[in-house]
Amino acid sequence: MPERASRDSAASGPANTCDPAGIQSAPVFDIKRYAISDGPGIRMTIFLKGCPLSCRWCHNPEGISPAIQKMYTESKCIGCGECVDHCPEQACELTDEGITTDGKLCTACGLCAQVCPARASEMSGHYETVAELMKVIENERPFFDQSGGGVTFSGGEPLLYPEFLCAALDACGKLRIHRTVDTSGLVSEGKLLEVATRTDLFLYDLKLMDSKRHEQWTGAGNRRILKNLQALAATGAEIQLRIPLIKGVNTDEANIGATAVFIAALPGPEKTIRLLPYHDVAGSKAAKLGQRHDRGSMTEPAEADLERIVTQFASHGLIAAVGG
Ligand code: SF4
Ligand code: SF4
Repeated sequence: MPERASRDSAASGPANTCDPAGIQSAPVFDIKRYAISDGPGIRMTIFLKGCPLSCRWCHNPEGISPAIQKMYTESKCIGCGECVDHCPEQACELTDEGITTDGKLCTACGLCAQVCPARASEMSGHYETVAELMKVIENERPFFDQSGGGVTFSGGEPLLYPEFLCAALDACGKLRIHRTVDTSGLVSEGKLLEVATRTDLFLYDLKLMDSKRHEQWTGAGNRRILKNLQALAATGAEIQLRIPLIKGVNTDEANIGATAVFIAALPGPEKTIRLLPYHDVAGSKAAKLGQRHDRGSMTEPAEADLERIVTQFASHGLIAAVGG
């Protein structure tokens, strides 16, 4: 489909360089403290909003759009009508099914969330400057220092905001804080390699080796993602490959075999491989965003599937572990 094809190629434009003095704020939708699965030690993971992919299994659907979004949880709503009274756009309506929001009228001003006494209405995403973020990061330094941890920039896709990301990575580097970047790989090669000069560890997602199936399940082909991974590996960067395992999508022997062949041929130091079994948690978040979640053929892999996949990687000389 033309739209999807252009999303794959949009990230393949000229090799722009990062200008840390450029845009220095970005939309953040979550900050996770004491994270232990996004790199070494105890970490702070910062989730930037906006992603060039839209994976059907995405655990964080609120991270796909770069826009600030309203989220509503019907089970928390006490029907007080405060949001209806305060919405300047008359976008909220109290119905038998709770609050409905007219997306065409809503400007994401956040007033409904401010007045909601039950936190049934919330806003996902707020803009944060590098300076503001660094204050939060610096508070956690004792945990990083004691555990060998640091900061992980995730998303969404943190490389959608290269100036912000480079400035934040530079600021962390000055404080000798370990820096991890979690990327989908669907970014410009130039920006990726610029970011690599400021990054200690990459978490790099590999989903499907067949580009058409990749497009079918994530909204974009994988040509740029695979090419970027080869270019990044050639720099000698430390890379952990993360493979979400979704039965009915990518756990078949053909895809795992092709993935293993590709990884085994990558240049640079040995890569760690983490297998991340799919869990069906996207539905409840999609409902909060007023979106429909179609699970389709996606199911959670069984223990036997995981054992077979680990064995298949081992047959290519690769060590793959289950979990982040
Ligand atoms: S975010 Fe603002 S415009 Fe949108 S529903 Fe809430 S109060 Fe109304
Ligand atoms: S303000 Fe909150 S609790 Fe009250 S009706 Fe609106 S969403 Fe429900």
